[in-house]
Amino acid sequence: MDLTLSPADEAFRAEARTWLAAHVPRTPLPSLETEEGFAAHRVWEAELAADRWSVVSWPRVYGGRDAGIVRWLVFEEEYYAAGAPGRVGQNGINLLAPTLFDHGTERQRARILPSMASGEVVWAQAWSEPEAGSDLASLTSRAVRTDGGWLLSGQKTWSSRAAFADRAFGLFRSEPGTSRPHQGLTYLMFDLRAPGVTVRPIGRLDGRPAFAEVFLDEVFVPDEDVIGEPGGGWRVAMSTAGNERGLTLRSPGRFLAAADRLEALWRSRADPSDTALRDRVADAVIGARAYQLFTYANASRFLDGAAVGPEASLNKVFWSEYDIALHETALDLLGPDGESADTDWSEGYVFSLAGPIYAGTNEIQRDIIAERLLGLPKGRR
Ligand SMILES: Cc1cc2nc3c(=O)[nH]c(=O)nc-3n(C[C@H](O)[C@H](O)[C@H](O)COP(=O)(O)OP(=O)(O)OC[C@H]3O[C@@H](n4cnc5c(N)ncnc54)[C@H](O)[C@@H]3O)c2cc1C
Repeated sequence: MDLTLSPADEAFRAEARTWLAAHVPRTPLPSLETEEGFAAHRVWEAELAADRWSVVSWPRVYGGRDAGIVRWLVFEEEYYAAGAPGRVGQNGINLLAPTLFDHGTERQRARILPSMASGEVVWAQAWSEPEAGSDLASLTSRAVRTDGGWLLSGQKTWSSRAAFADRAFGLFRSEPGTSRPHQGLTYLMFDLRAPGVTVRPIGRLDGRPAFAEVFLDEVFVPDEDVIGEPGGGWRVAMSTAGNERGLTLRSPGRFLAAADRLEALWRSRADPSDTALRDRVADAVIGARAYQLFTYANASRFLDGAAVGPEASLNKVFWSEYDIALHETALDLLGPDGESADTDWSEGYVFSLAGPIYAGTNEIQRDIIAERLLGLPKGRR
């Protein structure tokens, strides 16, 4: 497999680099987990979108550049290398959009994608429930048929950034009493400010109201906001999850940039005789490069028509564990105060600890790898 980029890809890289150098805010924006930061990041999304850098791989008609998956990876590398702001629209762009490309109608795509690309409408993922996390199919929030649509009731939780987002997408039980829990679920989109919706931020230890619980009490959703067939939501949801784990959530650019920063930290701080730490820095640099090549190889398989399969679970376990190891190495380089100092590294470390939990816990990913890739017998549940 030839992973060399074409001259046209390199020209695209240069164009992205030039644009980012001219536009990335010199002072970092406030945290996007706060109201002020959320608003500032929306403005950044609009700036990206105005020059078609928000969603480079999408068709032009929705605000993209039709650039394809390889150039998206290239753009991500440049984006993180430039130290550009986090993407407040990522749940919509990385999760809902691929779902709409696979299962939505043309009318839905035309209605939803442009405002998602520009940050005018920011989406939250409302899947988890107090009693349905890993075992998502045990969810109990309901969608009941009514004239022209559905009435949603129930409770969702751990919805990232729902405190400030505009709309959400999630799974609801529309046919109670089916013989299997995965059946009779419907994938719906709803407005977080509609009558009957209560959004309650969940306080974090750092005081930032990043997550929210979402309570729904007979919230009306029109038929046009169902994705796929009513009752067929599980299949739609699994394509969202595959995209999240497989490619879109954590592109290699993020880790290449972090490994570069780690190497710079090593050069500025390290005791050269500490070969154990040096080896960990080298592992981080090699790991980022390996993940990059693995991802380009996957992209090339997708371009040849392969679908995202259970291999996505390998990806998810790799990047989440890699991220923790990289941050632990940085904190060790910073010395005894590393963890408590208010640096990007200490904040990144705390966030990295969540990696093995969100997007499906790593224990569940290992189950998938064991059963579906290695063909091992199912464990007792
Ligand atoms: C930073 C972050 C952001 C998140 N954002 C969102 C969001 O935007 N939207 C959303 O809907 N949810 C979100 N979540 C929730 C996340 O999807 C759930 O936390 C996750 O699915 C696990 O569910 P749970 O917390 O209920 O844990 P549980 O499912 O109760 O699991 C508890 C423990 O048991 C283990 N376990 C459970 N079942 C098995 C099994 N069969 N085999 C082996 N081990 C098992 C798990 O691995 C875990 O270690 C987020 C979570 C985090 C940490």
